[in-house]
Amino acid sequence: MAGQPAWMSTWDGGGMSQTDDYRGLSFWHDTVPGPLDPAPSLHGDTEADVAIVGAGLTGMWTAYYLNKADPGLRIALCEREIAGYGASGRNGGSCSALFPASLSKLDRMAGRESAIAMYRAMQHTVNEVGNITIVENIDCHYAKGGTVMFARSPAQLQRARDEVDEARLYGFDETDMRLLSAEQARDLGGASNVLGAVYTPHCAAIHPARLARGLAEVLRSRDLTIYEKTAVQRIEPGRLITSGGTVKAGHIIRATEGYTPELAGYERAVVPVYSLVIATAPLPDAVWAEIGLDTRPTFSDLRHLIIYGQRTADGRLVFGGRGAPYHFGSAVRPSFDRVPEVFTALRKTLIELFPVLGDVTVTHAWGGPIGIARDWCASVGLDRSTGIGWAGGYVGDGLSTTNLAGRTLADLITGNDSAITRLPWVDHQSPAWEPEPLRWLGVNAGLRVMTWADHAEARTGRPSRIAGAFSRFIGA
Ligand SMILES: Cc1cc2nc3c(=O)[nH]c(=O)nc-3n(C[C@H](O)[C@H](O)[C@H](O)COP(=O)(O)OP(=O)(O)OC[C@H]3O[C@@H](n4cnc5c(N)ncnc54)[C@H](O)[C@@H]3O)c2cc1C
Repeated sequence: MAGQPAWMSTWDGGGMSQTDDYRGLSFWHDTVPGPLDPAPSLHGDTEADVAIVGAGLTGMWTAYYLNKADPGLRIALCEREIAGYGASGRNGGSCSALFPASLSKLDRMAGRESAIAMYRAMQHTVNEVGNITIVENIDCHYAKGGTVMFARSPAQLQRARDEVDEARLYGFDETDMRLLSAEQARDLGGASNVLGAVYTPHCAAIHPARLARGLAEVLRSRDLTIYEKTAVQRIEPGRLITSGGTVKAGHIIRATEGYTPELAGYERAVVPVYSLVIATAPLPDAVWAEIGLDTRPTFSDLRHLIIYGQRTADGRLVFGGRGAPYHFGSAVRPSFDRVPEVFTALRKTLIELFPVLGDVTVTHAWGGPIGIARDWCASVGLDRSTGIGWAGGYVGDGLSTTNLAGRTLADLITGNDSAITRLPWVDHQSPAWEPEPLRWLGVNAGLRVMTWADHAEARTGRPSRIAGAFSRFIGA
């Protein structure tokens, strides 16, 4: 596009098998060690005990824990591109204990104790990811610095208080989540217009492609097969029909998150909503002295249309947010990963957040689809009558949740009746999304409402009633 900065045109997609320039997918792919050449595809028919569709973190954690439980299991992963191609390799790198459904919502769904158990399991999962990276020697720059959610308007401060109040109601104390004063918040990260913040230690910053590619290497070292450039065309009980042949298996796991609507029969299971991200050039020490984030807490503020960021191990800011449009028919295309206006808006927001950045150079810009279930509740489960399992609907909180999903699926498949198989998201069935054009109208209206609400709150300082009403309406 004429006049656009170079970083916006580094990669412009194309068809489904767009280009094999996987380095160009994101800053993370650009800086992950090792080659990104696709591993051999499936050629001909084969058999396995468990066949997994998608080699993102859901698919790979499931394979990892299945192998740990029973090294004799034959596990085959079929990946349309390369392991870590999707959201798992290109997210914001915030490995948090966040779960898309709130404590009070889970309480309404399954009761107080189940809600608390779910949130405790998420906290444990952040540590589990860290432990496995040590055990398996995956250097993904894991730094458990917690996360800070800045409150930058009176309305955001009210939401910060509400969030902490809800945590207290369910017995989560200061060691889990606390309200920071403006001064304490600024000590952690020197953002502008800060009135306070919520801080929780249950979060780690990571380099997601290093985690995804590292995990793929671990699986290969245990003789598990990841067929790359192998597209699954159809999921049926007992078999996968792929571009390279049929995989017969007693258990099939669907681990395709934002790409799920492309699979026949799953068109309305989740909606793919795009999250977009930019990375700055490495910042000078003088700038870091102002910004802080010394222990690498990930950060966001409490606006409605989510923003998020991290200080990378090599001294950059990676910063993302929603706002890209939802595409009719839940379409997913590589070209949707890049929206120049959203990148420009993200850069502007980042500079507003940290004015010391001045005319900062952005070196990378990318995006990808997240999966949202109709009731905004992630789920994992196994249909014992068909042998087909799934996990997803993580919204933007999948980086750690995929690990819990993988452990849970392994337990469900091997029949291990563990505590995590009784968590409230297990076998939860979200309703299907509306048919088009209602879906397109509803999702894009929602994105607009959130944007307007943030502008109105920034102007008036008062909580937006329309955003609250909309959230209740969609059950978020
Ligand atoms: C830009 C962005 C930022 C995010 N930031 C964060 C964050 O900071 N923290 C957080 O917790 N979460 C974040 N998320 C969400 C998180 O990354 C995802 O929830 C998580 O990675 C989902 O993992 P997955 O394995 O289920 O899906 P994916 O990683 O998307 O993997 C699905 C895989 O399936 C493959 N596939 C799809 N269809 C087929 C088919 N037909 N045949 C074969 N293979 C197929 C795809 O190629 C892909 O590799 C972000 C997501 C995005 C896009």
